[in-house]
Amino acid sequence: MIQFEQIGEIRKYRLARSILGRGLYFTACYWIDGLVVDTGCAHTLDELVSALDGLPINGIVNTHGHEDHIAANAALQAKYGVKALAHPLTLPVLLAPREKQPLQLYRRIMWGYPAPSMGSALGNKVETEHHRFEVIYTPGHSPDHICLYEPEKGWIFTGDAYIGGKDRALRQDYDIWQIIKSLKKIAQLNPSLLFPGSGSVRKHPREEILEKIEYLEEMGNRILTLHREGVGDRQISGRFFGREMPIAYFTMGHFSGKNLVRSYTVNRVGIN
Ligand SMILES: [Zn+2]
Repeated sequence: MIQFEQIGEIRKYRLARSILGRGLYFTACYWIDGLVVDTGCAHTLDELVSALDGLPINGIVNTHGHEDHIAANAALQAKYGVKALAHPLTLPVLLAPREKQPLQLYRRIMWGYPAPSMGSALGNKVETEHHRFEVIYTPGHSPDHICLYEPEKGWIFTGDAYIGGKDRALRQDYDIWQIIKSLKKIAQLNPSLLFPGSGSVRKHPREEILEKIEYLEEMGNRILTLHREGVGDRQISGRFFGREMPIAYFTMGHFSGKNLVRSYTVNRVGIN
């Protein structure tokens, strides 16, 4: 399933595997001035390649190596002969997705394995004909995560570094303290428009990000207090979030309240 939205000169494609006419989980791909930012998942790659047909394509940037952001790289490279630029840690995943990023069943159902593609390491900047993007390192959601920031326009493409809403479940490999630090970095840039890897384009990004930081920090402090008192992760999760949400069962516990708590307690860094 693919949906299209034009925001000024930026083209946004919302991509999702659909079952019975409903998109399972949408991820975004953007086209700006010949540059493709993220390329969706294996289940949507044909739709994306057809949707981009006729547009000039001179390069790809992957915000990170998760399977729902890289899967049309190979097809676009074969068609246009372009490079895929990404953080150095992403490159082995692009080359050998099955070996370097084995997927749990729910990830294979939702997104599938990408075909291998060739990546090159990003520098500090990415230039297109009319724009110059700064590469901002934003780990936490994954260790290889970057954002692209266009300072003259105030645009920022944030991949999964910013996800709207109040988290009640998280994956075990996310580092929540690094997520908060990266969100602060993005807020400090005071972008005018934020183009996320899923969800709608944000017109007041700084306010929304600061609100999110406040929520995550406050929750983190309360969780660490209980942790220091010897309360276990599962009990803390129960006190905060009640019963696990359906996503915890669908992902066999990979995405859960308990893992959100664990992300705070395992990765804790010097906050009071
Ligand atoms: Zn991701």
